[in-house]
Amino acid sequence: MKLDSGRVDEATKYLISFLVRDEKYESFVKYLYEEDVLKECKSGVGKIYIVNSGFFENDYGQKSSLPAKPLKEYEGIKIFYGKAEEKRLNGNVVIYADLIASAYFVLTRYEELINEKRDIYGNFPASESILVNEDLINIPVVDYYGNIIRRKLKFLNYEIQEKKGFSKLYFTHDIDIPFYEYSFTDMVKTIGKSIIKDKRFIVHPLFNYLGIYKCNPGKTWDYMLAREQDVKEKTGIDTESICFIVATEKKDEYTQTYLCDKKTKPILDEMRQLGALLGMHTSYSAAVDGEAVRRERKLLIEETGEEILYNRNHFLRQLRPYDLEYYENAGFTDDFTTGFNEVIGFRLGTCHPIKWIDPRNARISNLTIHGMEIMDGSVIGEKPYQMELSFEEGKKACKAIIDEIFDNGGELDFLCHNGMFDNKSGNYLKDLYDWILDYIVEKVGLKQ
Ligand SMILES: [Zn+2]
Repeated sequence: MKLDSGRVDEATKYLISFLVRDEKYESFVKYLYEEDVLKECKSGVGKIYIVNSGFFENDYGQKSSLPAKPLKEYEGIKIFYGKAEEKRLNGNVVIYADLIASAYFVLTRYEELINEKRDIYGNFPASESILVNEDLINIPVVDYYGNIIRRKLKFLNYEIQEKKGFSKLYFTHDIDIPFYEYSFTDMVKTIGKSIIKDKRFIVHPLFNYLGIYKCNPGKTWDYMLAREQDVKEKTGIDTESICFIVATEKKDEYTQTYLCDKKTKPILDEMRQLGALLGMHTSYSAAVDGEAVRRERKLLIEETGEEILYNRNHFLRQLRPYDLEYYENAGFTDDFTTGFNEVIGFRLGTCHPIKWIDPRNARISNLTIHGMEIMDGSVIGEKPYQMELSFEEGKKACKAIIDEIFDNGGELDFLCHNGMFDNKSGNYLKDLYDWILDYIVEKVGLKQ
């Protein structure tokens, strides 16, 4: 795979700017081969030089380009390319750790281009991920690289401001099924099971069967959206609640369909009234078919009368790192899919939004991607596929992620499914959700 040098230049410049996070100082950080660094160091002072390890040339796209193990550590953080060395030369700092290639490697999901292992849903398994295996999934490692560069700039006496706190809160809800439709058999089975197993008599399946939908255990968005608005008002943080809506006309193996049902319109109206934005929840089957992604978006726009700009895939299903081009081409501006089903953490390596870069050609796209850090199912889902944490363990794990986001001045993306949130399902998700929202308010403090 041969990359266009102009595109590599653009991508590496963009990454420098992304890592420095302060446009005043971007021009003091350069990415060059060692011989050019040594030449430039003679003529000027006060720069950070990151030495190019040759990642974008040599054997780009081949197995031999994957990071050599064991990984080296620079400034206490594992790097994927370059050497764990640094030099001071004529008032400049020369970093041999290739932080640019290392950041690119994580942000583009480069390893997934080469490692073709997939799980039964076609997703790249967390157990194959270098971030998981090297114990880097619990930190935004790319942001840590940025922190190192900023520390070096400070060392050179530049006045870099550190920004802590949440830049944004995204509370996101994948509406896999907004209401249940019980057949006669389902109704009898559900009521029977509840009597035998939980010693409770429930009536909503009967009402549902009779066409009375008021008592709908899937209707949990009203509680969540109201609470999220409350966090926004109390803290003054830029907060968005997004409901991702399935937009298929026909159901597939793993996706329900409901958009064109007459019961759906009032539900979407209610979500909007409660302050939510609507996004698209790309169906299981459309995830492998760019044309189907377009069709689903078109249908959702027709049904809602809104320009739909946000996407997240059902089952977080993006099989290849370059499938993101489907969403760019379909007209979305933002994607919220990058996270693992199995574990919480920073699959994107950052808690800041970033333009998606296509790992096949280093092209910077028009699509902004947001890492999804905490998904309810990962915490409460069963082992061995998911984490199956106790309530106490779940709080601790989520707290650690939230603290990292806060310390790195980033955005939280917390995914809570309407269907799992149901108190009747016997899990502790509602308590965890309440705890997380309270913790955010406590951490930030009330707005003055
Ligand atoms: Zn889903």
